[in-house]
Amino acid sequence: MDFHTHNLHAPLPAIINIPDAWLLSPEQAQLREHATYSAGLHPWNTADTDAERLWQGVCKWAHHPQVVAIGECGLDKLRGASIDVQTTWLERHVMLSEALRKPLTLHCVKAFDEIIALKKRLAPTQQWTIHGFRGKPEQARQLVAQGFHLSFNKHYNEAAYAATPAHCRHLETDDADT
Ligand SMILES: [Zn+2]
Repeated sequence: MDFHTHNLHAPLPAIINIPDAWLLSPEQAQLREHATYSAGLHPWNTADTDAERLWQGVCKWAHHPQVVAIGECGLDKLRGASIDVQTTWLERHVMLSEALRKPLTLHCVKAFDEIIALKKRLAPTQQWTIHGFRGKPEQARQLVAQGFHLSFNKHYNEAAYAATPAHCRHLETDDADT
């Protein structure tokens, strides 16, 4: 199972991230039978002028039966809007995830303390998974203790992978849409 990919033609089973073009123009989408998808506003897009339009697309797609997860969404201190603005966007995704009972796929760069604090504050019922986890084992243990799942791609720390219990661990390609 490829837990997270941007490759629309990824081998199945996979959770394919809905591309921005499909968020803006759902009629252009070409869903594959038996594929599953995730829909979210990427934190890198939170400063874009069309962020609200992308979000409208996320809300529509989120209801689709083949969309099994909300995301990727999250916090990135190196790109996108300010962390305050990104947090507001993330909270909107959390509300959607809770309302539809679909789990959350998170992108997190240098904002783990903020994500942990948000999870404590909002106490979500849905699973939160940090995709593309590259952190060290201590951080993996800390996140697992807070109830997170972790998804690993080819850039990963072997000791962190080993430190993550199998039931909290996913594998992904995060491949580009090529
Ligand atoms: Zn991704």
